Order: sequence, then C-alpha cells, then structure tokens
Amino acid sequence: MKRFLFCIGLFMLFGCDTKKMSQPTPETEMNEFVFETKPQNIILLIGDGMGIGQITAGTYLNGNKTALSRFTHMGLHKPYSTTSLITDSAAAATSFASGVKTFNGAIGVDMDSMPVPTFLEEAEQKGMVTGLVASSTIVHATPAAFIAHNASRRNYEEIAEDFLKTEIEYFVGGGKKFFDRRDKDERNLIKELEAKGYTMGTYLEEFKDFYKANTSAKKMGFLTADKDPLPVSQGRDYLIPAASNGIRFLSQRSMDNNGFFLMVEGSQIDWGGHANDENYIVTEFIEFDKIIEETLDWAEKDGNTLVIVTADHETGGFTLQPGSQMDSLVTTFTSTKHSGDFIPVFAKGPKAELFSGIYENTAIYDKMREAMGW
Ligand code: MG
Ligand code: ZN
Repeated sequence: MKRFLFCIGLFMLFGCDTKKMSQPTPETEMNEFVFETKPQNIILLIGDGMGIGQITAGTYLNGNKTALSRFTHMGLHKPYSTTSLITDSAAAATSFASGVKTFNGAIGVDMDSMPVPTFLEEAEQKGMVTGLVASSTIVHATPAAFIAHNASRRNYEEIAEDFLKTEIEYFVGGGKKFFDRRDKDERNLIKELEAKGYTMGTYLEEFKDFYKANTSAKKMGFLTADKDPLPVSQGRDYLIPAASNGIRFLSQRSMDNNGFFLMVEGSQIDWGGHANDENYIVTEFIEFDKIIEETLDWAEKDGNTLVIVTADHETGGFTLQPGSQMDSLVTTFTSTKHSGDFIPVFAKGPKAELFSGIYENTAIYDKMREAMGW
C-alpha cells in the first residue's frame, strides 16, 4: 500500500513512467522502484516425480482443474545428472539448490564431493528467513539438498546434524528417529535444536495444535513421523497446514523487508510412480495442487512473492492411453524408476518471466538468484 501511494505521488509529479523509474537518477533516489521490480520472497514448490503424465492425470481426476493453470510463465528444464541422463532426486535437488550438475546420490556437493553453497544458506546470509516442508522425512534427498552437504543421500543421521549448522527458521517433515534415536551416536538433536532457540514438536501432537500453541516461537521445527510420513490416502494431514502456516510464520519474521525463502515438497507423488500406483499419484498430486492454490492466493495478495513450481524428474514413465476418459483413465507405466523427460516449470510473480524457455535444471538456481538481484 505504501508503495502504491508513493507511485500515485510520483505520478502526479512526473507521470508514472515505470521505465524511467527503474533507472535511478542522481536527483531522485528511486530505490523503491528498482526494488519493486524484484521479488521480496521466493516460494519454491517441488512435486517429486511430477511429470506431464502425473499433472495430466491429476488434473483430469480433479474435475479437470489444477491451480497450475493460474501461472503466467512456463518453461522446461533438462533434469539429467552427471552420472546419468536419468537423475535421482538428490542430484536434481542439488542442481536446484546450488546450481551445479552432480552425481546421483549427492546432497549439496559437487562432482568432487566438495560442499557447494545452497540458495537457502545464501538467503540466510543475506538476512532472509527460510523454511523447508516435505511429506517425506525432512532429511530425505529433496529437502536435504537445500541445507545439508553429504556425498550420500543415505547418511540421514549426518544430514540431520546439518540442520544445526544454519539458522533455518521453520521446518516440517518426518524422520524424528534420525534426530533423537540415532545409530551412530547418542546425540539428541531435538534437544540441541531446542538449546539453539527452536521450539520443537513431534508427531506425538497434531501439527495444527502445535502450530497454534507456538505462533510466537522464534524458530520452529516439527517432526511428523519417526521415519517416512504416511501417504495422504492413509491419513497424513499435515502437509497443507504446514505449507500455509510456513508462509505465515516466515512472512511475520521477515524483518526490514528482507523477505523469505520457503521450499515445500510434495514428496510422495514420486513414491506413487515407483509403486506404479495411479491412485497414489493422483491423491498426492491433488493435495499438492491445493498447496499451490493456497500459495498463489497468498502471493497474489502479497504482490512481492515469486512462486515457482517444478519437479525434479518424472517417475514411472506414466502416460494416458487410448480408451481414457476424463473421469476414468487408462494409464500405463514403462518402469518403476525415474524417466528422463524434460520437466515443466511454472512461475508467477515478480521476475516470473525469467522462467520461460528451455534450460538446464541448474538454471532454476541461477534464475532465483537473478530474480533476487544477487
Ligand atoms: Mg523427494
Ligand atoms: Zn524417486
């Protein structure tokens, strides 16, 4: 609102020529307008294993509706890793998080297994607040690559330790066991996080109740399951409120307009693909679509938030076959593994235009940085 009024004021003085305004002159320090052309916040939504087949089936079986149709800009990324034309989620998420191509299994490390800075870590250094939400364990490949550095995605206990090395403000996902009942040592990382200023909760409570009781927490972590959370069809109900409350929590803590970065993963669309289970894919997609919808509702009102939706890769070679009708699909899978198809990217908000075109998966990182003016 303040900026809008400022614009009206300037319009009366100079006429509202936005081109002129984005080039500050010595007389008029119009930093507000330079700033306004870039986002304050970035929300990155990753549907693991969500290729075009998953989006198509999920949309048709959701009454031919998807929040993805609200996006203004679309592109395609090339998901291959250095190991293989068929990436895994670890290499793919490392490409998004750090802008490097690396080997399958790598978490936040390059081809020589050397740590590479992540967008989340850089955002923290620049005074932004950050969050990670997933329907897998929080130490699983996709969220892990934004916060941890490890040559193997399977070193869950070491990945959990890396949560103590950043100032991430908000995280929600499964994997409590890797924090407090560890095989490699006797450490209780939940206690250590509490000592560091986190309000920590676990699946022994309902996430919604925990959030309500702790809205004034400085930093918040919630571990939703001992290991993997349930599929949404079996009663998992935290992902949607964890995403919407994450936006609220982080925006309230974004000081001096420094903004926030939040990554939310619909982790189990991929697991439906591995299981060759159409219903698993579709129910997970529809839940993720609801998160996209609520995120866009918030971001459109905010006006300063860039929302990006993509997937790391497709899973299962899932396609719609002849005989399909919109409410009853005939689908096939070509494997129980990932496929190598290009992956759609959707963007809306300030600098969304950067995401049009065909580019490497590493460009997601580059474009997020460019959007922020880094
Ligand atoms: Mg994943
Ligand atoms: Zn997978």
